[in-house]
Amino acid sequence: MIDTAALRIKANIETDPITGCWVWQRSTTGGYGRVRSNGRLGLVHRVAYRLWVGEPIDGMQIDHLCRNRACCNPAHLEQVTPIVNQLRACPPLTHCRRGHELTPANVYKYRGRRECKACKIDRQRAWREANPNWRTGATSTMPKEEAA
Ligand SMILES: [Zn+2]
Ligand SMILES: [Zn+2]
Repeated sequence: MIDTAALRIKANIETDPITGCWVWQRSTTGGYGRVRSNGRLGLVHRVAYRLWVGEPIDGMQIDHLCRNRACCNPAHLEQVTPIVNQLRACPPLTHCRRGHELTPANVYKYRGRRECKACKIDRQRAWREANPNWRTGATSTMPKEEAA
């Protein structure tokens, strides 16, 4: 079966002269256009990506570099992991609550969250000061991660 979605997309978009976005002119859901492709209703930008770029890798999301959800210009689309997509939509903090800069070297992952290493070192130092006998085994457990 020939997929005529490419023709349907071309017939229903208008190119934005400034951004170059292919703006979907038909109905949208949550800002995303929908088009029938191979008998199934799909998101226009995902269908366009498949048609002009290729099949996205399983589990990858199609992200708009132009941030225009109604756009389906393949040049404005990029496949990203869901995590990247989420970070782009909601950029991570640049500093922790106590003002340490969250550089890649100063961040570690704990239970899926980005935590500040400098704070952890401070906590451990404070704990050792409060428990001077920790090396001798008087107390055997290191402090638990504090819930932020
Ligand atoms: Zn665009
Ligand atoms: Zn910190």
